[in-house]
Amino acid sequence: MVIVGAGPAGAALALLLARQGVPLTLVEASPTSARQFRGEALMPSGLAALAAMGLLPLPETIAQRPLAGWAFWANGQQLFQVAEPMGSLRPCTLVDQEALLRWLLDDVRRLSGAKVLTGRPVVAPMLSDGRVVGVELADGTQVSGELVVACDGRSSRLRQKAGIELTRIGSPMEVRWFRLLAAAADPVADWLKGQFVTILGGGDSFALYASVYGGVQLGWVQDSTATVPSSAADWRERWAQASPERLASLLRACPLQAIEGPMLLPVKVGRLERWWQPGLLLLGDAAHPMSPVRAQGINMALRDALVAARQLLPVLGQGNPAALDQVLAGISAERLLEIRPIQASQARELARADLLRHNGWLRQLLAASTGWSSPLLARRWQADQALLRQGWGTLELTIPNDAMMG
Ligand SMILES: Cc1cc2nc3c(=O)[nH]c(=O)nc-3n(C[C@H](O)[C@H](O)[C@H](O)COP(=O)(O)OP(=O)(O)OC[C@H]3O[C@@H](n4cnc5c(N)ncnc54)[C@H](O)[C@@H]3O)c2cc1C
Repeated sequence: MVIVGAGPAGAALALLLARQGVPLTLVEASPTSARQFRGEALMPSGLAALAAMGLLPLPETIAQRPLAGWAFWANGQQLFQVAEPMGSLRPCTLVDQEALLRWLLDDVRRLSGAKVLTGRPVVAPMLSDGRVVGVELADGTQVSGELVVACDGRSSRLRQKAGIELTRIGSPMEVRWFRLLAAAADPVADWLKGQFVTILGGGDSFALYASVYGGVQLGWVQDSTATVPSSAADWRERWAQASPERLASLLRACPLQAIEGPMLLPVKVGRLERWWQPGLLLLGDAAHPMSPVRAQGINMALRDALVAARQLLPVLGQGNPAALDQVLAGISAERLLEIRPIQASQARELARADLLRHNGWLRQLLAASTGWSSPLLARRWQADQALLRQGWGTLELTIPNDAMMG
C-alpha cells in the first residue's frame, strides 16, 4: 500500500501498519520534517492515542513540557485561569512535533517491508477501471499498491485530483503566527508561567505560550477582511495595547530583531462526509482541516491513524477490493462520529471568542466584574472543554492483539 504525506497522520499510520508486517511505501514531498512553524500542543486525546500506539512516554530526546494551565484576559484584566490537568489523565503537553515525526519515521525505516521516500512530491493518483491503484511522483516514478492513503494535509493534492469537494464550515479567518526568539523573549515567557494565555482587547485577539523550541509562539486571530499592521514595530505595539500593563511593557522591551513572522495561515475549516473512493482513503487534515481553536489537528490526525490501522489490518493483503472498500467506508463513518462534534465544539468556542472580540461593552462588563464572575466563568469554560480535551469517549483506541493481515 502507499501512504502519501509524513505528517502525524501518515507517519503514525505507517508505523502502526509496518509494525504488523504490512508492506508499504510512505511518500513525503518535503526532504525533512523541519517547517517554519509547527503546532506543539497535544491534548489528552492525542496523548491517549500515542499511549495506545505504545509510544508513551516519549523519549527525552523529544522536547516536551506539560502546560501549566489556561488563562484569559480582556481589557487588561484576567477574566479567569484554569490549571491543568483539569481532571484528565494527562495534562495538555507541548511536544517538539518535528522531533516526534523524525522519531516515528526512523522507526518506520527500521521495519522490514516499509520504504520511506522523502523529497518526492506525489502529483496524481493512478487509476485503473475507476479504482485508485497507486500514485505518480513528480519525477515520473509510479508507485502502486492495493490502497492509497492520502495524508497530504489541508490542501491535499490527492483530494483535488480525485475531484473530492470539501464541505466548508464557518467563515474564513486568518491566523498569523509569530515567534519571539529565546533570550530576548525570556521575560515574556516568564510572565506566562507555563500557561497558554489568550488576550482580548481593543477588538484584537491573540494567544501566546512559551514554546518547546524556546522563546514564545504567538498566534494572532482576525477576520480575513481586517487590515493588519505592516511592520514588526506596529505589530509589537498592537499586542502591547491589547495586553495587561506588565505584559505590555515586556512586549515593548522585546527587540524587533527578535520577532519572527508573521506566517499567514488562512484557516479554511471543513470536512468530507465520505473519506474514500475505491482504492483511496483520506485521513487527517486532508479529510477534515480543523480550526486552530484548542489545538485539535495533530490529535485528530493521530486518532484517525489508530482507527484506520485497527480497521485495515484484517483486510489488507486479502486481494478483495470490495471488502477493502467496505472497510474504508467503516473508517470514514467511525471517525466522523468524533470529528463532527469536535468541529461543532470548536465553532462554539470560536463564536464566543468572536463575540468578546467584537463587543467592547461585554468585554468591559466582564473585566469589571471579575471579583465575582471569575469562578463562574472558569467553571463554565472548563465544563465546555471535555470533548476538546478527551475526544469522543466511546472510541475504541486499542489495536486488538489478534489483528493480523489477512
Ligand atoms: C502554525 C501551526 C500551529 C498549529 N498548532 C497546532 C497545535 O498546537 N496542536 C494541534 O493539534 N494542531 C496544530 N496545528 C494543526 C496541525 O499541525 C495539523 O492539523 C496536523 O499537522 C495535521 O496532520 P496531517 O498529518 O493530517 O497533515 P500535515 O501535518 O499537514 O502533513 C501532511 C504532509 O503531507 C506532505 N505532503 C503534502 N502534499 C504532498 C504531496 N503532493 N506529496 C507528498 N507529500 C505531500 C506535507 O509535506 C506534510 O508533511 C497547527 C498548524 C499550524 C500550521
